Amino acid sequence: MHEENCVFCKIIRGELPSKKVYEDDETLAFHDINPIAPVHVLVVPKRHISSVMALTDDDAALIGRIHRTIREVATVTGVAETGFRVITNTGPHGQQTVFHLHYHVIGGRQLSWTM
Ligand code: IMP
Repeated sequence: MHEENCVFCKIIRGELPSKKVYEDDETLAFHDINPIAPVHVLVVPKRHISSVMALTDDDAALIGRIHRTIREVATVTGVAETGFRVITNTGPHGQQTVFHLHYHVIGGRQLSWTM
């Protein structure tokens, strides 16, 4: 299941380039095109889900897989030891701009609460 004009679905389908960090059958991790820190990776489910609000109880296993991918990303990028932040912007007040569920994994420098 994918959305024709979704930028992350296009990346998943290989129609747009990305710098991949990790991939499995259900998730993909790639570098953010506009990084705000030395490590800024996006973790997405391959299935199109518009946001946290579109998740259901049936997605419990997928959420576990996403968190496993986040740990893989932290290890591969070297921030597992120093620490990092995981953010999921949701809706207008959350300043979500891409409506395909994604988790920002941000680190590689000291973060403040306001970033
Ligand atoms: P949001 O604002 O939380 O929805 O995050 C969307 C993120 O996707 C932003 O940090 C963008 O820089 C990033 N982004 C948008 N298009 C691309 C792309 O084609 N490749 C990688 N990252 C992208």
